[in-house]
Amino acid sequence: MKAQILDGKKVAEEVRAAIKKEVDEIKSKGGHIPGLAVVLVGENPASKVYVGQKEKKCKEVGFNSFLHKLPVSTTEGELLKLIETLNNDKAVDGILVQLPLPQQIDSDKVLKTIDPSKDVDGFHPMNMGYLVTGLPAVHPCTPKGIMYLLDAYGIEIEGKHAVVVGRSNIVGKPIAHLLLDRNATVTICHSRTKDLGAITRQADIIVAAVGRPRMITGSMVKEGAVVVDVGINRLEEGLVGDVDFKTVGDVASWITPVPGGVGPLTIAMLLKNTLEAGRKSER
Ligand code: NDP
Repeated sequence: MKAQILDGKKVAEEVRAAIKKEVDEIKSKGGHIPGLAVVLVGENPASKVYVGQKEKKCKEVGFNSFLHKLPVSTTEGELLKLIETLNNDKAVDGILVQLPLPQQIDSDKVLKTIDPSKDVDGFHPMNMGYLVTGLPAVHPCTPKGIMYLLDAYGIEIEGKHAVVVGRSNIVGKPIAHLLLDRNATVTICHSRTKDLGAITRQADIIVAAVGRPRMITGSMVKEGAVVVDVGINRLEEGLVGDVDFKTVGDVASWITPVPGGVGPLTIAMLLKNTLEAGRKSER
């Protein structure tokens, strides 16, 4: 193993400690305590785990946490009504609707109903539009976490060739724009890309966000590249990423592990977005 580890767990702990310190100060001055409302509809086991983790971390840093658990039979109208209530609730700075939603509910409609200033997931089309145009916006948590991690380790981005594998709205597209904003030359690959390896071999930085276990192998990576593995694949042997850690670790200069890489940063950035939303509401 040649690559050094981009330790997302450690960096996320530092972020959370800094947030807790700020919240403690807010509390000591009797200021506005940031509040995050999490909405969970139905019984999806993975969603329950994610929501539980978010609630726990929220409480650890001292935020107010408001969990709204709704039955799987909830109508779109009922959910939209709850979001309107949360939009108008001064104690709530951030609103997170856990996806996926049951099929009777249009997720796009729900995400568009969230007040963009409380959209701590950064999925509202207005925040996405601001991100693309390079204006100040709430950035989605996973791409924001990746940038934070690269910066924490002083990884140079300007002038580098970054190859993003995956073009989803929550990871691929926004991380491509954030890298572009920092003057990387960005290539975005997807399922119709021909000869993926020929492209990834040109990359100084690879971000893999596909959802296919270990699909990026050592032979697809240039010597000394920085490799960020966003993938979370649940196999019988446990969690594995989209990157073959063993073979890629032998050629890369830096690599994120799974677990303990991008994942912890995602939740830390959710807390950061909520803190920032809370600061704005205090003004
Ligand atoms: P999506 O399924 O929405 O997107 C996957 C992307 O991968 C698509 O753009 C798809 O292309 C592309 N793709 C699929 N097959 C190939 C292939 N053979 N070659 C090249 N590209 C391919 O996934 P997400 O972006 O939501 O998530 C990606 C992974 O990241 C998942 O494992 C997910 O669990 C994980 N994740 C982790 C987070 C974290 O906190 N660590 C947060 C969010 C996601 P096309 O558009 O053509 O279909």
